[in-house]
Parts: sequence; C-alpha cells; structure tokens
Amino acid sequence: MKSRKLLMIPGPIEFEPEVMQSLAEPTTSHIAPDFVESFGHALEMMREVWLAPSAQPFVVAGSGTLAMDMAASNLVEPGDRVLVISTGYFGERYADLLSRYTRHVDVLRPERGQAANSDQIEGKLQSADYKLMTFTHVDTSTGVMNDPKAIAELGRRYGVLTVLDGVCSLAGEPMRQEEWDIDVAFTASQKAIGVPPGLALLMASPRAMEAWRNRTSPVLNYYADWTNWLPIMEAYANRRPAYFGTPAVNLVKALETSLEKILDEGVDKRFLRHRRIGKAFRSAMKAAGLEMIPSDEAAAANTMSAVYYPDGIDDQRFRQTANAEGVILAGGLLSDIKKRYFRVGHMGSTGAGDLLATVGAVESALRKTGYSIEPGCCLRAAQEVLGAQ
Ligand SMILES: *Cc1c(COP(=O)(O)O)cnc(C)c1O
Repeated sequence: MKSRKLLMIPGPIEFEPEVMQSLAEPTTSHIAPDFVESFGHALEMMREVWLAPSAQPFVVAGSGTLAMDMAASNLVEPGDRVLVISTGYFGERYADLLSRYTRHVDVLRPERGQAANSDQIEGKLQSADYKLMTFTHVDTSTGVMNDPKAIAELGRRYGVLTVLDGVCSLAGEPMRQEEWDIDVAFTASQKAIGVPPGLALLMASPRAMEAWRNRTSPVLNYYADWTNWLPIMEAYANRRPAYFGTPAVNLVKALETSLEKILDEGVDKRFLRHRRIGKAFRSAMKAAGLEMIPSDEAAAANTMSAVYYPDGIDDQRFRQTANAEGVILAGGLLSDIKKRYFRVGHMGSTGAGDLLATVGAVESALRKTGYSIEPGCCLRAAQEVLGAQ
C-alpha cells in the first residue's frame, strides 16, 4: 500500500509534480539571468491570473498574513477609519491586525454562515467616512463566500478602497480584479495557486498605489513597506535584478511553473472546474444528511467546505479514521464550535479522482464512527454531479 496520503485541507494543498520539481532545482543566485527571467515572467502571469492588466504585483517571502499586513500597513494611516467585513476567523484576524495601524476599526459581522449582504454594508458606509474596507472572499473557517463584485461596487459608490483577502479563493473562485474594480487582491502560495508555503502574493490597483503615494506619514511596517519593494518588482518586471530582501528563489521558480499550468488550463475553465468539484462535494454531504456552515448554495465556497458532524460523531476519531483510509482532513477553526465540524479543501489541482477518494473516505469514516448511512450514497451523489456536463 502506498504510504502517501491525500492532503485535502484548506492549505497547504496537494501540489503538482512539476511544481515540486521546480522547487527542487539547484538554488541559483537571485541576480542570475535565468532567475531574473523567471521572476519577471511570474510577475507578468500574475496580472493574467488576477485578471488585472494594470495592477502592480508584489511577491514577497512570507505567509498570507504578511499579504494582509502589506495591504493594511501601506494603505492605512493613524486616524483613518476602516471597515472589516468578517465572515469568520480571518475577518477577525484582519480587524486585530488593522488595529495596529489605526484606532478606528469597525467590524461588520453577518450571522454565522451568511455572506455579507449589500444593504448591511451600505448602511455601514453611509454611517461614517471610511478610507478602506476589507472582506474575505472565502473564509477558511466557515467556507462562506462573499460576492466581490457587489462589494467592490459599493466601495466605488462610496469612494472607499476595497481589499479582498483571496488567500483561500484566488485562482479557484471567479475573481476579475480590474473589471470588478477591486483595489487590492492578495493570496498566499500554499492555497489555490498551488505552490508550497512561503510566498505572499499581492496585486494593487493604480488607485491603491496612488493612495499609498499620497500618504502623509511613513509606513509603520519596515518589511512590508512598498517603498522598499516597488523598485524591486519594477526591476524584475523589466528583467533587471535588484535587491531589498533576498527573494525565495526556489519558491519563485515554483510559482512560475504553477502560474504557467494555471494559464494552460485557462482561468475561466479552472473556475468552472472548482465549481463542479465544490458542488459534487456538497451534494455528497447532503446525501448523507449533513449540514454545512454556509446557510445556502450562494454563500458556499467551491474551494473548500465546512461540514457539521452529525450528533455523536467524535472529531478526533473521525479524522483519524479518514486518515487511515488515506485522506487528511482538517478540524474546526472557530473556537466555540471547534469540535463540532470538519473542513475539506478541494482546490488547486483537485480533480474527480481526488474528490471521489475524499468522499469515499468521509463516507467510510462516518460509518465506522457510528453514523448509519447507506454505503455508497455519498459517492453516488458526487458522481452524479461529476458526470453531468
Ligand atoms: C490561510 C488564510 C490566511 C492566512 O494565511 P497564512 O499563510 O496562514 O498566513 C488568511 N486569510 C485566509 C482567507 C486564509 O485562508
């Protein structure tokens, strides 16, 4: 029996063999011509994957939280008022992070399981003069998906910069940064973009760059300051080396490979594949009579799912059983219901085969830990969705 297990958590995910091969190439100098070419090419391809031809890319060694910090520290000055739309754990983290840069942080919290509704957001935007608002595209703790297009429209109408935390969605869920006029959209390498952990990836609109240029006080985070990074990104884009902090050479090579693969598939096809995979997983859970945290299909992410256990199922035993069947699942992340639900990542390269293996392991672990369902019911439901064109 093979010892490798399927890693089906909401990041890190399963990575393509070609990406792992790029990572394993001998490390070169960050000023070597072939590395300069790879970095420049990766920056160009980010514009295509984000669908943002005029945006400024930033690729910096760090995790997704650094990307959150980069947007906040460069765009927020003490005294600015900001609005955080929180649909779970990462919305709360953003409010906490932003409070390091300004005292005026308001949080809008839709009911658990629900996406932010435009009327609620508009009510907030009418009530105060905000400089910026952040929202989580897919919150990894709840599997709730917000509508970036509707939120960005409100941002435009009220003259508020919009920041999309796309760490669990970018390159999986539809996101058209320029057409939808989103000011900042960022992710981390280890999620749907398909590169091992270690890179923060961010795209800033011309409007966001102008807001940064118009600051009257210095950026309070030295490492994240665009003053340090913009000349570096511009140099590599023009195929010249430059230095501020040593780039994660191997990860940037792996990023180039993954972005190439994403563009080979085509972003729109990739969005559709994720939707089909997400729908198949939800359909399988429904067939077993399980409830999800998102209140309805419209609020449900396609890159991952958060599923409530039926009464009496023990989280640890369930996930150990699934693990013994070869599939690694994630537990809950919200502290008040941590043991009451599990999470499954089905983003990146996930296809029908990996999804069916996962559904099979979930179904089997449910049965072995005491939940009585008809064998095969989940697999059949998933296959019906996967087989339909
Ligand atoms: C994972 C994640 C983050 C944090 O990323 P790290 O790489 O763990 O720092 C932020 N936001 C969302 C939505 C995430 O899924």
